[in-house]
Amino acid sequence: MASTRQTLGTLGFAALAAAAVAVVTLVPMQDYTVHILVQTSTFAIAVFGLTVVLGLCGQINLAQAAFFGFGAYAVGLGTADLHMNFWLALAMGAGIALVMGALLGMTTLKLGGHYLAMVTISFQQIVTLIMVNWIPVTHGPDGVGRIQRPLLFQSSQAFLGVCVFAVAVIGYLVWRLPQTPLGRSMRAVRDNELAAGVAGINVYKVKVAAFALSAVLGGIGGGLFAGGFAYVSPDQFSFAESIVFITMTLLGGVAAPVGALIGTGLLIVLPESLRFLKSVPGLYLAIYGLSIILIIRYMPDGIWGFVQNRVRRWLAPPPFAGAPAELMLAPAYAASADAAPMALEVRDLCKHFGGVKAVDGISFSVRRGQVHALIGPNGSGKTTTLNVLSGIYTATSGRVLLGGRDVTALPPHARTVAGLGRTFQNIRLFRSMTALENVIIGAEQPGNQIASGHAALVERARAALAFVGLEARAHELVTGFSYGHQRLIEIARALAGNPTLLLLDEPAAGLNSTEKLGLRDLLKRIAAKGLTILIIDHDMTLVTEVAESITVLNFGRRIADGVAADVLRQPDVIAAYLGTEPDAPAFT
Ligand code: ADP
Ligand code: MG
Repeated sequence: MASTRQTLGTLGFAALAAAAVAVVTLVPMQDYTVHILVQTSTFAIAVFGLTVVLGLCGQINLAQAAFFGFGAYAVGLGTADLHMNFWLALAMGAGIALVMGALLGMTTLKLGGHYLAMVTISFQQIVTLIMVNWIPVTHGPDGVGRIQRPLLFQSSQAFLGVCVFAVAVIGYLVWRLPQTPLGRSMRAVRDNELAAGVAGINVYKVKVAAFALSAVLGGIGGGLFAGGFAYVSPDQFSFAESIVFITMTLLGGVAAPVGALIGTGLLIVLPESLRFLKSVPGLYLAIYGLSIILIIRYMPDGIWGFVQNRVRRWLAPPPFAGAPAELMLAPAYAASADAAPMALEVRDLCKHFGGVKAVDGISFSVRRGQVHALIGPNGSGKTTTLNVLSGIYTATSGRVLLGGRDVTALPPHARTVAGLGRTFQNIRLFRSMTALENVIIGAEQPGNQIASGHAALVERARAALAFVGLEARAHELVTGFSYGHQRLIEIARALAGNPTLLLLDEPAAGLNSTEKLGLRDLLKRIAAKGLTILIIDHDMTLVTEVAESITVLNFGRRIADGVAADVLRQPDVIAAYLGTEPDAPAFT
């Protein structure tokens, strides 16, 4: 079903694109109209780049005009001064933008947030300075004239056809991107970076890819722009233009290329159509500014986002037909029964935050196939331990062995590939995605033998959702689920990755008593499949019912460890954890 719809959509799009190219090349037009359309289409390609990096991946790029400039100057200097072939010059511009984008991304994307914004602004300013001051090469403020077009597309309308064709092809690819593994990873990184890493995504690599992709689209847009106008100068690629690109993205809707196209068209056509107001000074700017403010105020997801939210209900795929497959878990066990008997060994683990010794030299082991609980009062270091185990924090000292393998130095995604799955104390789902998409990301890992290819991934994710009882709502956005159900989706996402060890941080927190019973049954069903679980929870009924062994922490140190019943009888555990009076909880 979905694939038929997709094919129809693609065919419809191709027909529309072909019609657009035919119209702009064949129907006679005024120079002015051609001018506006060339500008819109070349800008739109650069804005598509921002759809990728900002819309899909959530990374800010305030230097898109600089990448646009790389493409424009490559075509300008290449064709005018070096007498290069247009296409070769365009490819060179795209290549330069790609390399610069990748380099800028690699050096700055570890920073993120405000730093990233500032570094991209500085980069933009440096590029402008070079354009203005490196006169022997760039011609400085005079700019570059006599830029050549490709042989077969000398007339401005023929060249416009090229631009519209490029918009269609690139727009199509950007439109399809979110449904590809790379696009899904980008959305996961945007929605929740920590969870993306723990779900097996190499966050840094995905960000650099998004940045480089955005830069290359900037370069292509700029190269075509230079061909269209035959003259470029530094002021066309300034910081102010970068802001215009960002505004176009936000105005139309950051999440899809349609939005980019709407935003670009609007910001180019709106000022032009208000020119008749020029007789009243200032009025034109006021109306222009006010329109933008009103749109952003009343359509926070942009114009296309606004439309999409209204039609989403009719676009949802139909429910699955037939029964889901049974969820296969941890097949690694039987095969490696003679390997290390411990699923997890923690040795002298320390995690200090400055003077705070959150975890201060703890050791414990989790036996294969067992449910092991990690308990202790609030602030005793349980979550920190889990964060060190899953690689979100690097250990100050000590070692972590997963199935006998030292994973202490591995980043989160590599530990996930090595067999770790986890949920978070504060639920971390990918909020803009459906339940199914969330779980697909859990299933989708390099080297994952259980599911390769899209159909297999969907089946695996569906089986995991069915296992937690939510398969019927697979296509709903996760934000529409109750808190308890969101926890179940998080567990399904971890299970889909086929972990050998499942880490659960307070899964019962915030659940009502019915939900707690459901969770207890789910944990028992997971344990019955032979999966090893390390669970943190304050609900002692749950802990005593599911856990066979317990490690107790207090002030970052281990104060007890062993068979559940024995541990809970120890006086110092009762004192530290339960308080001396049974009715007075020492924790909340
Ligand atoms: P628990 O999960 O057992 O309630 P945590 O592991 O969250 O405890 O916290 C243990 C201690 O470490 C607390 O004192 C907490 O304030 C401190 N801590 C946790 N994370 C950080 C951090 N990122 N920076 C500084 N201190 C932290
Ligand atoms: Mg905690």
